[in-house]
Amino acid sequence: MSLAQTTSSGLPSSQAHLGELVEIFASVQGEGPLAGVPTQFVRVAGCPLRCRYCDTVSSYRSPREVPIRDGFARPTETLFNPVPAERVPDLFLGKRSWLALTGGDPLGQPQFCREILDRFQSLGKKTLLETAAYDPLALETLLPHLDVLSMDYKLVSTLLPYGAYSSPGSLGELHSSHLRCVEKAIQAKVGCIVKIVLTQTVTQEEVEQAFRNLHPFREGLTLVLQPVTPAHLERNKLDQIFLKQFWWKAMDHGFEIRVLPQIHKQMGWD
Ligand code: SF4
Repeated sequence: MSLAQTTSSGLPSSQAHLGELVEIFASVQGEGPLAGVPTQFVRVAGCPLRCRYCDTVSSYRSPREVPIRDGFARPTETLFNPVPAERVPDLFLGKRSWLALTGGDPLGQPQFCREILDRFQSLGKKTLLETAAYDPLALETLLPHLDVLSMDYKLVSTLLPYGAYSSPGSLGELHSSHLRCVEKAIQAKVGCIVKIVLTQTVTQEEVEQAFRNLHPFREGLTLVLQPVTPAHLERNKLDQIFLKQFWWKAMDHGFEIRVLPQIHKQMGWD
């Protein structure tokens, strides 16, 4: 192979990374400060967590086929797992759209994800990573290729007892990973969005502990309080009075805040 046959990561194409995907689709961003922005999503397979409200349970395992959708329901093309990073298409023409790597959780396949991010950055796209932020070392490899990190801070009452990090001991480890991810993103000057999904069963104590833990980083992040969209095992909406109490408490801590539901669900989009 000639040296000219390289990917944008500088890897010979024969060494380009393969990865397990669930789907690739064009839509608008449905969560957080970038809500409504045209975005291409690449959904990576696999996630070690198990959230009560998970709306992507099909992403826990890798499917054989990976549909590509251009914003309408019907797949325009199908890839097969494992997918070479270089085969991930650019569904938007022009340079003003975003690529969002989502899941599942992309941190389980960092080399593959790094190559996708690198490719899309060289196409002029902005890049966003959506993650549960459980692995700061994996995140570190992606930060140079990211414009924005959108990470979850998980509350114990929203996790099921059989996923990773669900026991009280390992939950401390998860929260310390969250904080190290925030710290690394701020140090790398990557935009940092921290999302807390609020359900009817979260306790005042655990939410306030989350605010206290994040407080030292408040100048470097935007905090999103997201009232849950009932899904999977979470059947109830959040009472508005609780949402307002948490919002005021977060303001007391001096966070830059957005209070936002998932707008794509409001519009009836997947
Ligand atoms: S981290 Fe995301 S993909 Fe994983 S279980 Fe929770 S909501 Fe589902």
